[in-house]
Amino acid sequence: MKYRCPVCMYEELPFPPRDYHICPCCGTEFGNDDADSSHKELRDAWIGRGYPWFFGLPPLGWNPEQQMLNAGLFGFQRAALKQLHVRLQPVSARTFQITGFDEVADNSASVIAA
Ligand SMILES: [Zn+2]
Repeated sequence: MKYRCPVCMYEELPFPPRDYHICPCCGTEFGNDDADSSHKELRDAWIGRGYPWFFGLPPLGWNPEQQMLNAGLFGFQRAALKQLHVRLQPVSARTFQITGFDEVADNSASVIAA
C-alpha cells in the first residue's frame, strides 16, 4: 500500500501521512509541521524553495511539477524558473517580434536576435 503526500503529492509514501512520519520528497513531518501550518502553506513554502527532494537522492526520473499536475494542482508557481531564452525576429530597425522562448533554470540565459 502506497500513500500520497497531501503537501507535495508524492505518491509513493510507504506509510500514511501522520504519526510523525516524514515525507522523503518534501520533508513534511506529519503531526508536527502540519500542526501549525496548512498543507497548502507547507506546499507553497516547498515550491518557494524550488521544490527540492528532501531525503537522499530522488527517484530516477522524478519530476515534482508532473507530480503536482498528476494530482490536479495546476495553479502552482514555477519557482525554479529564473530566466527565459527569448528568440527575436527583427521586424524593423527598432522593433523585434518574439518568435519563441525557452525556460532556463539557471543563470545562463541570453538574448539572441535572429
Ligand atoms: Zn511530501
